[in-house]
Amino acid sequence: MPHRQRSTPHVPAGRRSGNRRRWLAARLPAALLLAALASACATNPVTGSRELVFMSESQEAELGREADAQIRSEMGVYDDAALLEYITAVGNSLAAVSHRPDLPWQFAVIDSPVVNAFAVPGGYIYLTRGLLAYLNDEAELAGVLGHEIGHVTARHSVQAYSRAAGAQMGLLLGQIFVPVMRPRYGTPGLGDAAGQGLGLLFLKFGRDDERQADRLGAEYAVASGWDPHGVGDMLTTLGRIADTTDRRGTPNWLATHPEPGDRVAGVANTVQTLLAETPDLSALRVDRAGYLARVDGIVYGDNPEQGVVRGGEFLHPALRFALEFPAGWEVHNGAEVVVAREPGQDRYMLLQIAGESTYDLQRIAEREMNGAGFREVQGAPSEINGLDAYIGMYTQDVSGVGPMIARVAFIRSGSSVYLFGAFADAEGYRLVERDVHESIHSFRQLSRDEADRIRPNRVAIHRVERGDTWQGIAQRIGAGIVPAATLAIMNGFPVNEQPLPGDVVKVVQPG
Ligand SMILES: [Zn+2]
Repeated sequence: MPHRQRSTPHVPAGRRSGNRRRWLAARLPAALLLAALASACATNPVTGSRELVFMSESQEAELGREADAQIRSEMGVYDDAALLEYITAVGNSLAAVSHRPDLPWQFAVIDSPVVNAFAVPGGYIYLTRGLLAYLNDEAELAGVLGHEIGHVTARHSVQAYSRAAGAQMGLLLGQIFVPVMRPRYGTPGLGDAAGQGLGLLFLKFGRDDERQADRLGAEYAVASGWDPHGVGDMLTTLGRIADTTDRRGTPNWLATHPEPGDRVAGVANTVQTLLAETPDLSALRVDRAGYLARVDGIVYGDNPEQGVVRGGEFLHPALRFALEFPAGWEVHNGAEVVVAREPGQDRYMLLQIAGESTYDLQRIAEREMNGAGFREVQGAPSEINGLDAYIGMYTQDVSGVGPMIARVAFIRSGSSVYLFGAFADAEGYRLVERDVHESIHSFRQLSRDEADRIRPNRVAIHRVERGDTWQGIAQRIGAGIVPAATLAIMNGFPVNEQPLPGDVVKVVQPG
């Protein structure tokens, strides 16, 4: 949840379960449905062959514009004009030598700690700041951008969208739909937060599409003067992340870009061929120093402007509150709503702003819950850690799900009223009732001092001294924020290889 004035981001969690996907499917907008119905045969810009795609170029452009608006408002863009200008300059050079130079290419840095890059049809390319922290030179950046540009030029995403739209049509017609997910006046509900923009990110390309995008990335890189080894180097780093991280939880590049390790070997042949055709190898750019200077100082991990998860607590220094979700639940900090979910279960807790504090809490509760189709079973004014609250129990019958229970508190804090509560089917609710009660009663205001102490961690540049190890740097320079292995991978090293004196490396430091 962002500061109110700002549109913002988060890390989607647990988005891949069956039910969750059904809900996503139910939100696919009419434009996409129409696009799916209007099938057409088009010429693939990369292969030149005719193929069945379900979208014309103008539909592709329109879908791209719509998805872009949703991605920006839901995920939030990272506020750094100089960095964006840099990424855009590299991206535009690659796009200019691509198979579709005339698309209105747009590049954006998403304000998310997740390591990811993705493209949507029409020429919209996104990198997360989480990914930028793991790249090590401009050639790798060109490799990632070229890869994503390749997905667009080869119309992979158009084809994947068409498949997804086709597969989900039956569900759309079936209207599987949980009412609390409906957008409400002005404030999108969970439905929008979980909506099209994010759903699209989880379109998984096939292995062949990935290999083709890797090859196209290397081609575009070398054609615009970068060393095509950047593609393999970037894939190597992603492979190391895959080897060392727990894959549960947040969808990221690994979810949408399978098996980076295999692809390193796959793209190596292409790189060799490209290099053999390059007259002056020494002219190819890598530019490590230039790249590191650009990412020096970028936020690493959670951004406090949107609320951070520290330990078991969700803290929002800008809005000055903190609360604890039930232990072990996955927290997705969305732009308009924070959702916690019991892993593998359809039991959720939601936090969002319900209105201005000038209104009566009971009236706000009535309006919000009735608007979402719920009926109050019981409710009363209350107090939570010194804050005025109205806590109610609500129910509604949802077709296909049965009776749903909502236990929701409306809490006045600062100039806002927060809606904070749990949603589950009746049986599931009983299992989490105690946790939910504790969670609701953990809501508290943050003091200014406490809020001021929550600062983002940032990427910094360090020159390796004699005797330095990743372990030593992680502790001495990085205050133990990231472990030694992460530091090695962030710097393009295998975890068991130490840096040499004089190397210039990235570290993560407290803000
Ligand atoms: Zn890809």
